[in-house]
Amino acid sequence: MLDVSGIRELHREKFGKEPILFLAPGRVNLIGEHTDYADGFVMPAAIDFATIAAISPCSDASATVCSKNFGEGISHALGEIGAHGSHHWSDYPFGVLAILQQEGIAVPGFHLTLEGDVPLGAGLSSSASIEVASMLAMLHVADASLPLPKIALLCQRAENDYVGAPCGIMDQFVSCCGAADHALLLDCRSLDYRLAPIPKHLSLVICNTMVKHSHAGGEYGSRRAEVEEGTAILQRHRPEVRLLRDATVEDLKRWGHEMPPNVLKRCRHIVTENVRTVAAADALEANDLNTLGRLMAEAHVSYRDDFEASCPEADIMVELANKLEGCVGARLTGGGFGGCTVNLVESVHAKQFASKISAAYEARTGIHPEIYQSHASAGAHKLEQDAS
Ligand code: ADP
Ligand code: MG
Repeated sequence: MLDVSGIRELHREKFGKEPILFLAPGRVNLIGEHTDYADGFVMPAAIDFATIAAISPCSDASATVCSKNFGEGISHALGEIGAHGSHHWSDYPFGVLAILQQEGIAVPGFHLTLEGDVPLGAGLSSSASIEVASMLAMLHVADASLPLPKIALLCQRAENDYVGAPCGIMDQFVSCCGAADHALLLDCRSLDYRLAPIPKHLSLVICNTMVKHSHAGGEYGSRRAEVEEGTAILQRHRPEVRLLRDATVEDLKRWGHEMPPNVLKRCRHIVTENVRTVAAADALEANDLNTLGRLMAEAHVSYRDDFEASCPEADIMVELANKLEGCVGARLTGGGFGGCTVNLVESVHAKQFASKISAAYEARTGIHPEIYQSHASAGAHKLEQDAS
């Protein structure tokens, strides 16, 4: 848990002013992987790990950001933010500022102190949490307000255009609109969403394989290119297929033979994952945990075999989880090629689950994993003055 009074104190020490605090959570995706950019469905939950942004206005026309995680501060004149980042952590808050400026929102000079406990680069979207927390903070000093879905879209644009990472809308959306004890089924085309209750007796146990994914890099990009190739082939027959969201398993059976084998597999993952994701929300709403667990297992197999976005370590972590007492469902979550698995575990068994999987994973791989226990958490919000 983040130390709210600590970040308030740090901001006061550095900048001599009382800050206003905003919190935005990271997220874990329960199901719906690589479906977002196909206009499909995802079902993440916000988690107990978050970024806090502490902000106060300053008298000159400059923006200063500092991060407790990185221990340094950077300043730019408000008129010199530019349109692209410089491969530095401060790209995230400055990207948010650049997008707000592009939107015509006059953000005055400010000091911004950031601190997060979302593990960086683990696939739990520390990036969305720093963006959303920063945007809420900057909107506050600009005396402006925007609807949360709009904030999510602008933060996504900051990450796409300024940072240069081709992410979908899921991370920022659930960081904005997540709700305690609920998963969020998001239609990435319309941005309609519904909240599906996670039973109170279940915990989210997130197991970090400690293998780094190459999210912004080669594999992510090549999967997206394969998906586009398959979509174009289907469009020859069914022009109404704008993206794979509009395609069915039946379409793939009829025209999949025109695709290179890898392209067909990537498309099959996305088409079937969309069906599974909506079914998983229905299962949560019906409190049908057997079906939910089965869907998560099928999603992992599809991600591993059709999308080929898993890795041996993640497969081992999921295999071990499925053997442990209290595990309702387990799968690799996030962009793939490492990162974390998400496990729905009966809370009474969660502690033992964590220690057993940690020991078993280390014995099998020689890697000591990090295990994070969480519940589905609230979306981004202002922290009241007396929060500590
Ligand atoms: P993920 O979103 O999976 O954690 P990303 O590579 O998308 O991984 O984003 C991680 C990057 O976001 C970090 O390397 C850092 O540049 C930035 N970041 C996230 N949280 C913070 C923070 N509290 N302080 C400074 N930078 C942060
Ligand atoms: Mg990220």
